[in-house]
Parts: sequence; C-alpha cells; structure tokens
Amino acid sequence: MHWADVIARDLMSTGDKHLISAGISPTGFIHVGSLREAVTAETVRKALADQGADVRMIYLIDSYDPLRRRYDFLPEGYEDEVGKPISHVPCPYGCHDTYADHFIKPFMESMDEIGVNCELFWTHELYERGMFTETIDATFRRRNKVLEILNGVTGREMPDGFYPFSPLCKRCGRLNGTHITAYEYPYVHYVCDCGESGKADIRKGEGKLSWRLEWPAKWKIFGVTCEPFGKDHAAAGGSYDSGVRLVREVFDAEPPYPIPYEFIQLKGKGQMHKSTGSSVSGIDALKMMPSTVFTYTIIRVNPERHIDYDSGLGILDMVDEYDRVERLYYEGGATEKEEDLLRAYELSQPNGPRPTMSIQIPYRHLVNVVQISRDFDDILTILRRTTDFQGVDIDDLKTLEKRVECVRYWLNAFAPESVKFKISETLPDVEISPEESVFLKELLQVLEGCEWTGDAVHNAVYETAKASSLGAKKAFQTLYLIFIERRSGPRLGHFLATLERDFVLRRIAEAAEKAA
Ligand SMILES: [Zn+2]
Ligand SMILES: [Zn+2]
Repeated sequence: MHWADVIARDLMSTGDKHLISAGISPTGFIHVGSLREAVTAETVRKALADQGADVRMIYLIDSYDPLRRRYDFLPEGYEDEVGKPISHVPCPYGCHDTYADHFIKPFMESMDEIGVNCELFWTHELYERGMFTETIDATFRRRNKVLEILNGVTGREMPDGFYPFSPLCKRCGRLNGTHITAYEYPYVHYVCDCGESGKADIRKGEGKLSWRLEWPAKWKIFGVTCEPFGKDHAAAGGSYDSGVRLVREVFDAEPPYPIPYEFIQLKGKGQMHKSTGSSVSGIDALKMMPSTVFTYTIIRVNPERHIDYDSGLGILDMVDEYDRVERLYYEGGATEKEEDLLRAYELSQPNGPRPTMSIQIPYRHLVNVVQISRDFDDILTILRRTTDFQGVDIDDLKTLEKRVECVRYWLNAFAPESVKFKISETLPDVEISPEESVFLKELLQVLEGCEWTGDAVHNAVYETAKASSLGAKKAFQTLYLIFIERRSGPRLGHFLATLERDFVLRRIAEAAEKAA
C-alpha cells in the first residue's frame, strides 16, 4: 500500500473529519526542499478524500517571523530591519510591498502549478485579527506549567525572566529587543533595548509567541489533525515533543498526527543557477521539469527517506523514471513491487490521470531537438519526422509544449556543458584526412539510400563506421567535428536523423571533398 494510503487509513480510524496543515517560513531563499512539505500534505489530502474523508488543508505562511540577520544579499541599510517581522520589512528589490511578499508570492505560483488545494493564511494577519489571543493569554496564565514543560522536554533550564512571547516595540518596531515586565490581560508591559517602555495589546498582533508555543497554538486554533514537518522538529526534545505536551496541558487540545519528512539534498555537479548563482529553488525545480514529474519524484518514496536531487543529468533520469511508470500505468506489466509506484503516479496528477496515455517524448531526445530548432513549430516538424506522432491531441500538445519550456529553462540554467551543442551553419574549419574522406564518401552513399528515421540512420552510421579503416571511434569524432565542431555529442544516428536530410548529405559531401 502506498504510504499516503496507510496514513489516510490510520487517520480514518480516529474519525472522518480532518484538517491537514503545512506551511513555510519565507525569511529568505526558498530551497527546492520546501516544496516537499506542500506536496506531502496535498498527497495525504487526496488519499484521505479517496477514502471518503471530509478533509481540508491549510497552508500557513510564517510572515510574522522576525528577520534574523542581514543576509548577504541584503543592502547594508537592512541592518536596521533585523528583528522586525518580515511582513513589516520592505521588499529588498522594490518589486513587492514587503519582504515576506517578495519571497512567498512566486512560491505560491509554484504551489498552484503543483495543484495544492489549500486555504492560505498569513501568520501576521492571524495575530492582527486576534486569533492567537486565547493561546497567548493561556501561555501567560499558565506560565509555570509552560516553563516546566519546556525545561523538561529540552533538558535546558529556561533563563530567569523568560517568556515565550515577544512584544512588538512601538517605537523601533522590533520583536527581538523587548523584555517583559508584567502581564495583565490584554496588555503585556515591556521595556525595549531602544529605550522605549510601553504595553502591547495581545488582541491586536502587538507581539508574537515563540516558535515552540506558536506551533501548538496553531494546532489549537485550527483543530489540526495531521501535519507534515521537517525531521529536525521531530528530534527527541524537539519542538514536536514540546508541542504535544503544550497543546494538551496548556491549550487543552490534541496534537496532530505527525508526518516527519527527510530533506531533499542537492547532489552532483551543476547545482548553481548559471545566471543567478543561487542553488536550486522550488521555483527552479518546477521550471525545469513538469510539476507532475516533480510531485511523482517526491511521493514515490516514503517521507522518511531522503531524496537526492541532481539538477544536472539527474533531471533526465527523473523524467525517464516518470515516463517508465506512466507506461506501466497505462500499458500494464508492473510487478507487485511496483504497485505503489502506480499509485504514486496516480496521486501525482492534480486532476487524476487522463483516460489515455499522453504522448511521451523523452527528455533526452527533446534536449537535442530543442537545440536545433528555432521555435515550437520547428520542433513539431522534427518530431513528426523522428517519432511516432500519430493520434496526438490538443492535450498532448500542451504537455509537449510544457516539456519544451522546461527543457529550455534547464539548458539555460542548470544543464551540464556536455549536453549542449550548436549546429555549425557552415562546415567548420577542420582538417579532413584522406581516410576520413573515404569514410565520408562511403557513408554518403549509404545514407542516400537510407530511410530518414532515427533507427535507420543510427544503423547506417554505426555499420559504416565500424567497417571503416578509421575505426568506429575516430569515424564518429569526424562526424561530430563537421556538424557541431566537437569531438563528442548526442547519440549520433538519432541526432543526424533530427536534422534535415538534405542538409546532412550536403555537409558530408562538402567535408569529403575537403580532404587534402
Ligand atoms: Zn520584490
Ligand atoms: Zn524598541
């Protein structure tokens, strides 16, 4: 059984009304791994819905977290912004209202693309609307209990005068410089490092709970029954452990079913975006492979397993694996061990699988085709010649167009140099030996009588090269040199077949004539 169905079954044994919560802290660069939480939550939501649950999902944006430090990408003036909630800090690039907006708005588009069905909440608004009032008040009233739990779970003594709440200073706007002197509902009295002394109204978002309290407070406020979270929170003595006790003993509610998930690790070379210099973001990930492939890659394995993400050649393997399982889904032939992969495939389709299989043009092939064509029409012309393009419908074309877009993005941003090439428009200035000339003339003759398909051209080139006195390796090199001015490149026969037949024959003839 797929892991999401197992979780859904466990959840259904406790009741059929469920609320799944997921979220993100947009304090800076959003790593590709951040999408694992949303994808995991959405997958469980679907599995629950399939079992007849009344299920909703919420997605919380931690927009009231303070800016922790001036990150390298921030201008010097942002030293002043450290400690302020990121919903109060201006966008560092001037393109959004706030810092939080800048990082989260593009990320939300990625979530849409994946098809995450959730209601969005911004934490700063929850505070401003007074939704935390009851839990903040309970935190103060039961402060001794709170401290006892924190000390017990973390094994660390909380310092004297510690409150798991930070008032927002009225004068400097920071959360990190205030010290609490007294509490009397609804006011928290404080002094601030900036010299201000005043009172904060907990009903109006004039302060924030610390993470260890804020998390269980959210469970209480929304009635969360299930939540995926990074495994760092699941460690012994971590914030899930303290959250469980706090929600029960301070907020009088039950903790959610936990789904700790492992991180996505970047592996291999080429993890830097070639123009921005950043590592792979969630947005990049969805620009270089279709969202269904990305979702499948994440949910094919159990959340507890880590995922190596290689944005270089690994992208090609991930798409191939998706295509393989898609064929198993529609054409049958899966082994018993692969049943879960079929379910993962099904769950990775936002609106469920299509009635018939979509056209599959392997990424490996598209990478070559994209590099020799000017536009999508060009690509279609080549594909009609080189692949089985029968019965293609409008949905297929959309799928294909998306793949082409992704391949282009990948080629510009993350692809290794080894897959890139450019067709030389005229014969490159290379020396052709008499032996090479003989080989080229032989090949020309064979190709003139050859059907112009990938397999036929591949066989023709391979047989002629093998029989040549040059030896196959040197013969292949000669061909790469006269077409792309390199000694290696894409699989030769299939590659030549993607080019215009007349162009190929002309180039070979011209090169053969060039022999000294
Ligand atoms: Zn912006
Ligand atoms: Zn202050």
